[in-house]
Amino acid sequence: MAAAWSPDSWTAADARQMPHYPDAAALDAATTELQRYPPLVFAGEARELTADLAQVAAGKAFLLQGGDCAESFAEFHPNNIRDTFRVILQMAVVLTYASKLPVIKVGRMAGQFAKPRSTDTETIDGVELPSYRGDIVNDIAFTPEARIPDPQRLIRGYSQSAATLNLLRAFASGGYANLHQVQRWTHDFMGRSPWAKKYADLADRIGEALDFMAACGIDADRVPQLKATSFYTSHEALLLRYEQALTRQDSLTGDWYDTSAHMLWIGDRTRFEGSAHVEFLRGIGNPIGMKCGPSLEPDALLRLLDTLNPARVPGRMTLITRYGHDKIEAGLPKLVRAVQREGHSVVWSCDPMHGNVVKAANGYKTRPFDRILAEVRGFFAVHRAEGSFAGGIHCEMTGQNVTECTGGAIDVTEQSLADRYHTHCDPRLNAGQSLELAFLLAEMLNV
Ligand code: PEP
Ligand code: MN
Repeated sequence: MAAAWSPDSWTAADARQMPHYPDAAALDAATTELQRYPPLVFAGEARELTADLAQVAAGKAFLLQGGDCAESFAEFHPNNIRDTFRVILQMAVVLTYASKLPVIKVGRMAGQFAKPRSTDTETIDGVELPSYRGDIVNDIAFTPEARIPDPQRLIRGYSQSAATLNLLRAFASGGYANLHQVQRWTHDFMGRSPWAKKYADLADRIGEALDFMAACGIDADRVPQLKATSFYTSHEALLLRYEQALTRQDSLTGDWYDTSAHMLWIGDRTRFEGSAHVEFLRGIGNPIGMKCGPSLEPDALLRLLDTLNPARVPGRMTLITRYGHDKIEAGLPKLVRAVQREGHSVVWSCDPMHGNVVKAANGYKTRPFDRILAEVRGFFAVHRAEGSFAGGIHCEMTGQNVTECTGGAIDVTEQSLADRYHTHCDPRLNAGQSLELAFLLAEMLNV
């Protein structure tokens, strides 16, 4: 029998990657205020996502999860939200068309602020300061004042999440995502990409199909699935004081839900046994993601699955593997076999980003597009060999024309990384690279 869970039972466990707030009273005041704020999502929506993910686990749908590594206060702008949303829509259309499967869209958006760091401090030119932990904690500027964790940032993070989610809901249901608009989900700066032409061709074919349906008397504007779309939000549940403040009891079922997002995930650094993050997440009803890197042994994975999903609810667990292009084919099969042997139902999703970070000669942290692609290929190869379903992709991406990952059809070179390197944390695929990845994925889904 597991010990009793409560929204603060995590405080008795090993809480790593947590900021040290100098003013405990100010932190209490901010979280007390957050507890009075409205939920950002409803429990019923989280349950719908669980049901959608159960379809993915059963091989009947595909999961597309993506967005910034870290959202920032500085990049908060409706155009940025729109551009990321539309590149996700584009990718989803490409994947749906090729695979003939529904694509479940989940943004790393509207709350993806807090970052785990490999070291507690950062040293530049002999000056050592606390690490930047995301805009919801402290400021990226390298000064002692900027790096002090500020509880008021929790309130600002909540407000930005609420406004972002509001716009996403409007885009998803207010006409922007109507399939009749499929030609308009492109970006002007993508004209040079060979994939933009391929996308325009596909959009034409979809347009013809809609015209044909209209001629047969089916008015697409009256078909909810064509007129609007479902779009869910997710982030890493890292900052537990924030997550706890937004955890509420559902009036319908009496169960607890973290209402800060539809789906929450546990990062690779906080999924160890005895972790406060595991303790917190086991008690909430939302669907849960877990990053699985090379250090995760099959036995530990099985124990974590028993803790996080004792009732074995299909769709509850998404295992997001992030090995690196050169490790996935050796590392992943043993996890897949253990899960199959024990009969767990999980979604297998591929994060081809976090195992493929390299430092360019000019010091920029980057990810070569061909390594990202190689990890995705490895992921599909392993699941094909093991008879499991390669169910999803988890990307760090943006709708902007940034130069953060090298390679792709419009080649971003190491020299051009300096041109538009805007990320607050890890390098993201730009809109062109994201669309290219979707087309290459579509080919893999089709075989
Ligand atoms: C992330 O998704 O930004 C991240 C930190 O990933 P991981 O926990 O897999 O390192
Ligand atoms: Mn990242």
